[in-house]
Order: sequence, then structure tokens, then C-alpha cells
Amino acid sequence: MEVGTRSAITLCFGIRMRASLSLSIFFSSLHVSLPPSMASNSLVWFRKGLRIHDNPALDYARKDSDNVYPVFVLDPHYLEPDPTAFSPGSSLAGLNRIQFLLESLNDLDSSLQKLGSRLLLFRGDPVEILIRLLKEWRVKKLGFEFDTEPYYQSLDNKVKDYASAAGIEVFSPVSHTLFNPADIIHKNGGRPPLSYQSFVKLAGQPPPPLSTEISLLPPVGNVGNCEVLGVPTIKELGYGDIRQDDISPFRGGESEALKRLRLSLSDKEWVANFEKPKGDPSAFLKPATTVLSPYLKFGCLSSRYFYQCLQDVYKTVKKHTSPPVSLVGQLLWRDFFYCVAFGTPNFDTMKGNRVCKQIPWNDDDELLVAWREGQTGYPWIDAIMIQLSKWGWMHHLARHCVACFLTRGDLFVHWERGRDVFERLLIDSDWAINNGNWLWLSCSSFFYQYNRIYSPTSFGKKYDPDAKYIRHFLPVLQDMPKEYIYEPWTAPLAVQTKANCIIGKDYPKPVVVHDTASKECKRRIAEAYELNRRMDGSVTEEDLKGLRRKLEGDQHKSSKLLSQKRKLIR
Ligand code: FAD
Repeated sequence: MEVGTRSAITLCFGIRMRASLSLSIFFSSLHVSLPPSMASNSLVWFRKGLRIHDNPALDYARKDSDNVYPVFVLDPHYLEPDPTAFSPGSSLAGLNRIQFLLESLNDLDSSLQKLGSRLLLFRGDPVEILIRLLKEWRVKKLGFEFDTEPYYQSLDNKVKDYASAAGIEVFSPVSHTLFNPADIIHKNGGRPPLSYQSFVKLAGQPPPPLSTEISLLPPVGNVGNCEVLGVPTIKELGYGDIRQDDISPFRGGESEALKRLRLSLSDKEWVANFEKPKGDPSAFLKPATTVLSPYLKFGCLSSRYFYQCLQDVYKTVKKHTSPPVSLVGQLLWRDFFYCVAFGTPNFDTMKGNRVCKQIPWNDDDELLVAWREGQTGYPWIDAIMIQLSKWGWMHHLARHCVACFLTRGDLFVHWERGRDVFERLLIDSDWAINNGNWLWLSCSSFFYQYNRIYSPTSFGKKYDPDAKYIRHFLPVLQDMPKEYIYEPWTAPLAVQTKANCIIGKDYPKPVVVHDTASKECKRRIAEAYELNRRMDGSVTEEDLKGLRRKLEGDQHKSSKLLSQKRKLIR
């Protein structure tokens, strides 16, 4: 696989390029743009990497070019409104993330304008549009960031194939992650390392970010007959109006990312003492972590720059925490999941995924919907799910709690169903990291201690005994006394009445009884693990069906656990 290499296809055009260079000096002194046939035109294709700093594809495009065309294509695959989806947005993305993307594009456009350029926006199939633009503008050099996601890999291969056939030089550097995942896989004998520790050992030090500061970009050339769009609003994209209170508090864009980074790093003690497992998942007014994930996801912030800034802080303090719990450790988790995801076919499914345990999950829609809509009757779980739908972001441990609850902890629903809900609603939704963490939390891969389950009642209480978090995201429980708020169904009717919240009417009864549900989940996972061990990684569909029948039969005989699932209120 060619990763981050520059093809030397156009070297034979050296003489013509020198001639056009002197012409370009002549034309630019007259402030006239060169005809496309004469100019040395480059195109930089933005997808993620929505930034100016540490952007090697942009840096490449601007060098020795008369014109640089900075292009972004609004891809219907991600952006076409889907009125049938469970929340407003497209079939793949909720409105919060779409809004974040539009803000990031606006910010990128204004940064480009400050550098004498601008963002050229198009809407449609990215491959078709790219090929048309490359032809129309007689582009000689094309730069775009390497992407490990299967969707982009297939787009990129088509664009690269066209470009090499047309003699266009292509540069596709790895700049979304600290390391090139292909290098790590190569160092590990062709397979991705499956533990964080082995990954860190192989990885070593990441390359530094680019030190170049761009102060001016070559101008955008003549765009010919191509219709360039402005950055649309949510409404112009066809999503209708959104109410102000439905918008996530996090604004998109590189400027906001750098501001947020500086703010986090200004508290050196906090950075030096950062220990992820000690953070408070219920802190929402001032979250316990950086909330830089959406900026890293869209590449508004370079992970290499973030890493370097952290090292600079470490140099100024006496001691600091280390991976896996430190902030540098968090960036390494990100790269770890990118590396495994890149090197594992079918990483996003249970079937055909060699690192994933085969487990006979159920597909209970009623339970899934209760979980998704924050209607499980467990306020800690429901408040987290409401934060997800309103803000598109929750603390890592909060994500742990709801992912565990949906899968191996209580409801035994397939992790792929929960993954889909996160993928749609998170503003930091990231293919490699999201799938990796769902595999982890469901004990399908990486982590196998299925006896360790998060309590949906006592875990949150440790951090937030007064339940400020629950009261904020579930105002229906606003007046429930703190003695009952984590288990409101235990409140006497008089207390419920006084709190204006009757359980079973204003707020649901619990969908399962945690103690019995979690015992049943453990029994099921133990049996599934035994099957995986016996079949040595080759569990078939039939084997899983057989196990499902056995488990359901046993359950019918011995307990009425999942039948204790209460009728949902709405
Ligand atoms: P910080 O603690 O400030 O960490 C800094 C950066 O390190 C983060 O921005 C992120 O890029 C990276 N990072 C931190 N924790 C992890 C982790 N466990 N795995 C990989 N990278 C990490 N994160 C996403 O960015 N996108 C997702 O789609 C996503 N889905 C998740 C799904 C589940 C079920 C779980 C349990 C976790 C998921 N995470 C995901 C990981 C993690 O929860 C978030 O990265 C983190 O909460 C983001 O907040 P932050 O930027 O304040 O993190």
C-alpha cells in the first residue's frame, strides 16, 4: 500500500514547468491570473484535516504552484437529509455533528481568506467532482490527507487511479494520526498489535508537526464553469430550522480548537496530574477532560501538534503522569485504535472480524429504543443518553456506563446497535475509535473481564451524590430528593407526588432489574466465551443459533429475568 509517498509522475514536465514559472512571474506582476493551460495548478482536497496548521497536504500544494484550489465536497453519503432516521439529520449523522462540520468549514474558509485564498465548496459525489475539477483546472499536483477509513480508502483509490493515469502528481500524507498505522503493522510482522502496551512499545516517538507557518497562499485560479457554493446553513442543506436549545455547546473550527487547546494547557498542574480514570464523568459545566475529541475527529486540531504542546508542558513541571492514564496516553489510545482498525478486516462487525468474540447478542428493539431515548428508568443511564442527544459529547466513563448497560451489563443488546447510535449522535464520532471502544466495552475484544459491570445506580452516585447532572439533563426528576434520585422507583408515592414525578407515569419504571439482568448477562457471556474457546476462533452462525436456543431455554426454566422487562411507558 502506498502511504504518504509522492509519485514522481510529472518529473518529465520539468522544462515546461520552468517556462511556465517565468511566465507566471510575469503574469503575477501584472496581477492577472494565468490561463489554466500555462499555470502550475495544485488542488488540495479537504475532507478531515480542516486546518491550516500542521497540514502537509496544503503545504505540498502551495509549494511551487501558481494557483492553489482548496476544495471541499459536501458528500450526500453523509449529508443527505433522512426524514426516516430516529433523530434529525442524515442517515449517518445527527444535526449536531453536521452543524459542527459547517462551522469548521466556515472557519477554514475565513482562515484561507486571511491567507489570500478561499474555500471552494461543491456538492455531490466526491470522486466525480474531483475528477471533473482536476480536468477543468488542469491540475498538476493533488494533495489530500491519507485516510484509514474503508469508505475513504475506496474513494481515494479511485481518485488516485485517475490522477496517475492523467499524469497528476499525488501526495497523500499521514497527518490525521501521530503515527502511520501501516508502519506499526509492518514492524509487528504484518498484523496490528492487539494490546495498548505492545502498541506503545512499537510506536516510539511520533514525528513532530510541521514547523512552517503559512502567511500567504498562492491565489485560487480561474474556476471556469464550475459552480462554487458558499458554506450552507443547516436549513439550506434541507434540514429545516433547529431550535437554539437543541444545539450542542461546542462550536466547530480550527480557531476554536486552538483556543480550547490553549485553555486546557494553561493549567499546567492539571495537565501534569491528569489521570483519566480519576475524572468525574458527571462534571458537565466544566468537563473533567479537554473536549478536544470533536476537533481531532475533523482534524481542526493536529494530534501531533497537541502531542508536542503536551511535551512542552511536561518540560516545565517537576513530574507528570504517564500513559495510559496521562493526556499523552489518551492520544496514544487514539492511535492504538486507528492502528488496529486499519489492520483488521471487518473491524466494524462481529461477523468476519478475527479480533471479535462471537456472542449471541439479542436484537430487542424495544430495549434499544428505551436506551437510545433515555427511557430505561435508570436516571444515571438516561441522563447520559440525553446528554448524548443534546450535546453530542459525554465523558469517557459515562460512555463506559451506557455501553456496558446496553450490552454485557444489563440488556444484552448487540454492540453494533449501540455503536450505530453513537456513530450518529456523537460530534466526535470516529469510525476507528468508536468501533474499538464498543468492542472493548462489550467484552468482545481487548478487554475480557465480563464480571466487572458498572452499576447503573451506585457508580454515578459516587461522583455526584446530589445528582446535579441528572437534574440538569432529566428535568422531570428535578425535585426528586437525593436519597431516591438514583433509584426513583423506590421513593414512596407521597415523595413521588411531592416531587411531581410519578414513576411509571412521568418517568419510566426500570426496564430490567439490574441484579438479575446482570447475572444473566454474565452467564450468557461465560457460555459464549466457552464456545469461542472450544471452536478456537471459528464459531459459525449455526453454533451461535444453537447457543442462543440453549440460553433461552435455560433462562425460561430457571428465571424470569428478561421477562421482568417492564412494559415501556411510551
Ligand atoms: P481527553 O481525555 O481530553 O483525551 C484527549 C484525546 O485523546 C481525545 O480527544 C481523544 O481523541 C483521545 N482519546 C481519549 N480517550 C480515548 C479512548 N478511550 N480511545 C481513543 N481515543 C481516546 N472517542 C472519539 O473521539 N470518537 C468516538 O466515536 C468515540 N466513541 C466511544 C465509544 C465508547 C463506547 C467509548 C467508551 C468511548 C468512545 N470514545 C470515542 C473515546 C473517548 O470517550 C473520547 O475520546 C473522549 O471522551 C473524548 O473526550 P476528550 O476529548 O475530553 O478526551
